[in-house]
Amino acid sequence: MITKFIKRILRRDPMVKHTQANNTGAPKRIPKKAHRIDPHLLSKNAVKVTDTLQQAGYEAFIVGGAVRDLALGIGPKDFDVATNATPDQVQRLFRKARLIGRRFQIVHVTFFGKGHPEIIEVSTFRALLDNAGDHVAESGRILRDNVWGSQGEDAARRDFTINAMYYDPSSETVLDYHGGMADMQKKTLRMIGDPAKRYREDPVRMLRAIRFAAKTGFTLDAATRAPIAKLSNLLQDVPSARLFDEILKLLMSGYSWAAIQGLKDAGLHHGLLPLLDHILDSGEGSKGANDFVKLALANTDQRIQSGKSVSAGFLFATLLWPDLLKNWKANIAKGISNIPALHDAMDDTIATQSSGMTIQRRFESDMREIWSMQPRFEKRAGRYPYRLIESPRFRAGYDFMLLRCATGEQDPAIGQWWTDFIAADPAGQEALMASAKTEPGSSASSPAKRRRRRKPKSDSSPEPEAG
Ligand code: ATP
Ligand code: MG
Repeated sequence: MITKFIKRILRRDPMVKHTQANNTGAPKRIPKKAHRIDPHLLSKNAVKVTDTLQQAGYEAFIVGGAVRDLALGIGPKDFDVATNATPDQVQRLFRKARLIGRRFQIVHVTFFGKGHPEIIEVSTFRALLDNAGDHVAESGRILRDNVWGSQGEDAARRDFTINAMYYDPSSETVLDYHGGMADMQKKTLRMIGDPAKRYREDPVRMLRAIRFAAKTGFTLDAATRAPIAKLSNLLQDVPSARLFDEILKLLMSGYSWAAIQGLKDAGLHHGLLPLLDHILDSGEGSKGANDFVKLALANTDQRIQSGKSVSAGFLFATLLWPDLLKNWKANIAKGISNIPALHDAMDDTIATQSSGMTIQRRFESDMREIWSMQPRFEKRAGRYPYRLIESPRFRAGYDFMLLRCATGEQDPAIGQWWTDFIAADPAGQEALMASAKTEPGSSASSPAKRRRRRKPKSDSSPEPEAG
């Protein structure tokens, strides 16, 4: 009988490894009148998940960034749930639930409604691995962490105090193990535990510190900030794909310019994107490039803050444009004709980036399309404008060209021409084409045109195809 019972347990939960709860202290229980979380900002699906788990006898809370954002009065972009149920136990309770990850299994519970499906990420409380030497690399970086623990341990493993609060929608209570709510009121971003040790465990936390400070407008606590300068080189050990994801989150946070300034102030930008080194380190000489990138990032922040989408390909195309422009001009000076000079420059620019954080291939083709469209905006005769407008990435290329106009690198009259052309009816478009013919030197800022005027015959290069 007993063996049968043990067998059943083993069959149901082959991965369960609960540690003895460490003495992590009792949480502060914060009632509604103190935390003032507005239940209307909650995702109904997240509440469904905590309710279902609680009704099945488990503990379940909304956790992490969602609680931080709720306490700030911001609607969270996604909801994470933490529970003492194991992934298998969670999976059995929901119809659309998928086990994700090998290093630490979590469950994605998907809800289909109007609009996009919503995924609620459910993770089991994690154990502290303080004494688990075999889990930690020489540098202190955590390599393996698939052990479940108590809620107190789970809280201690989280990064910042404001990211370590647990909200129970049914009682509308917040459980706060590390003084997160007090730090919220003081507008302080504070690392849990010994900051230097926490950065050694996971150097990406240094980037997260900068991102959250930019996003919340909070000040980094002195002890949290102090070790960063000395430990910044640990980012070199982080796998490039993870670094890329984190930088992407930072750029897409809606506060990218502030975050990049934060990286610079903390001395963290070196080696992340060669372009950032270049722009943030050089002074007046790079003013034009700086203006372009600043405008592009401000534009991205504005779009994200107003709930619009931003393509990562577009974003990287803007960040690398000053570099590309420099290479393009250098190629033309070497005597290469305009379009091949641009394509060579694209190769060089992308290749240089691989020395730091690799821009993943999935964005490369978008970037190339946007860039190769740029000289095509200057051809405003024959079938050219009609063909360009039909390219699948036209809108991105056009938005990009408008940014160039805004910094004066492209003639604003060309931007206006295209804006009018898009809006015009066929007769209006013909009239615009006729007017473009008579416009003198409408695109003097392009490296292409300068060459064209000097050596008219060499500009017989074919128009590049998008993609
Ligand atoms: P946002 O989703 O708004 O970017 P977030 O705080 O939710 O912010 P996530 O990356 O979604 O960030 O992580 C969810 C939670 O997991 C965090 O709030 C934090 O408690 C914990 N966490 C994430 N990454 C780490 C890390 N590297 N070290 C420690 N805890 C982490
Ligand atoms: Mg999150």
